Amino acid sequence: MLTRSATVSRSCVPLPEPAATASQAGPRRISILGATGSIGESTLDIVRRNRDDYKVVALTANGNTEALARLAIEFDAEFAALGDADKYSELHAVLEGTSIQYGAGEEALDEAASINVDWTMAAIVGIAGLRPTIAAMNATNTIALANKECLVSAGSVFTRAMQDTCTTLIPVDSEHSAAFQAIDASGAENIETITLTASGGPFREWDAARIASATRAEALAHPKWSMGPKISIDSATLMNKGLEVIEAWHLFPVEPNQIDVVVHPQSTIHCLVSYRDGSVLAHLGAPDMRTPISFSLAWPRRMEVPVPRLNFAELGRLDFEPPDPERFPCLALARAALERGEAACTVLNAANEVAVQHFLDGGLTIDGIARVVEATLEAAEKNGTIATLNGIASVYAIDTQARAMAQALL
Ligand code: NAD
Ligand code: MG
Repeated sequence: MLTRSATVSRSCVPLPEPAATASQAGPRRISILGATGSIGESTLDIVRRNRDDYKVVALTANGNTEALARLAIEFDAEFAALGDADKYSELHAVLEGTSIQYGAGEEALDEAASINVDWTMAAIVGIAGLRPTIAAMNATNTIALANKECLVSAGSVFTRAMQDTCTTLIPVDSEHSAAFQAIDASGAENIETITLTASGGPFREWDAARIASATRAEALAHPKWSMGPKISIDSATLMNKGLEVIEAWHLFPVEPNQIDVVVHPQSTIHCLVSYRDGSVLAHLGAPDMRTPISFSLAWPRRMEVPVPRLNFAELGRLDFEPPDPERFPCLALARAALERGEAACTVLNAANEVAVQHFLDGGLTIDGIARVVEATLEAAEKNGTIATLNGIASVYAIDTQARAMAQALL
């Protein structure tokens, strides 16, 4: 009979050593861009449980003065910045007399992002996150990237800036965090496919007519994840998965046709990496963003996180189905933009941001989002907007033109 003592230390396979991290005196200095959002709050939840290990340096938000000030005071931040310049006097009223420095407007966001830290969470939603994230590259060692839109819009301009500043990028999007963990050290030539899973969103089982009449509340009611409004709508249209295909192409050494998508309603497997020897490495976990956020914070180690544990006997089964291109045309639009090139991805993202906001404001049905994006891509192709991305100015120029075209179509 095996006794417990007989089973200890019987590992005869080589276990990888935890990678050495630079020894560090005192807590790690961290900043959070988009601190009041869903990702920002989850990040601060982890920090709150590990107060001795992290010093919060800068926090940013857009217009929620009260929430930003509350967090800045709770975490004794050095700097708090609001994107909305008109809110300066509000922020002044609550932070005056504290030791916290503060500002409002684009320059204040850049200033917050430019304070030297060890780690920065990039969790502003949309292309609004691009400028501060690029500013952060000169001031941080590691960017934990939640904001997929800045990678989709700026593509190689963004990744080149990361390389030029020797900034480490750790993906936070759950599928990309999962892929990062499931890609082994055997070399890119061994990867056959990366399969991103999609929950299918709230309309997975709805017919097209019912989707077309969906309300804002129905579209925001994601069955598995609790997220901000923009990504929730992107998940309902499957544009989120399209943006993630583009994101995966920028992050990992694979061609577009090696990136698959499968609908997996339980959201238990986040990504699968298939190798040429027939092995498939999957990453599983509860659908809770604190797991990938903590991974990006602790990397190359791991930390204790109080997320629900998986119980496989209770789970019973895992289901998979192909995405339906008829009811969810956004995924194919994103793939087509990726094939067309980076500037088409900038146009896709801009048109989608405009259309999603219009849906949220009540001016468009949800199936109209794909139509606006498709028509904007067609118009941009015809009038020559889809040019080469050759620097950050070209990203903003194409983004601005695409937004104007999408607005005109609305
Ligand atoms: P959210 O809407 O909950 O929060 C967005 C944050 O950005 C807020 O702090 C808001 O104040 C700030 N912000 C918004 N517009 C701004 C502007 N113009 N200028 C400055 N700040 C601005 O969004 P979220 O769900 O936390 O998502 C953030 C990013 O992370 C998105 O790019 C999303 O795609 C990505 N992401 C989110 C999740 C998730 O579970 N929420 C998962 C994967 C990826
Ligand atoms: Mg995701």
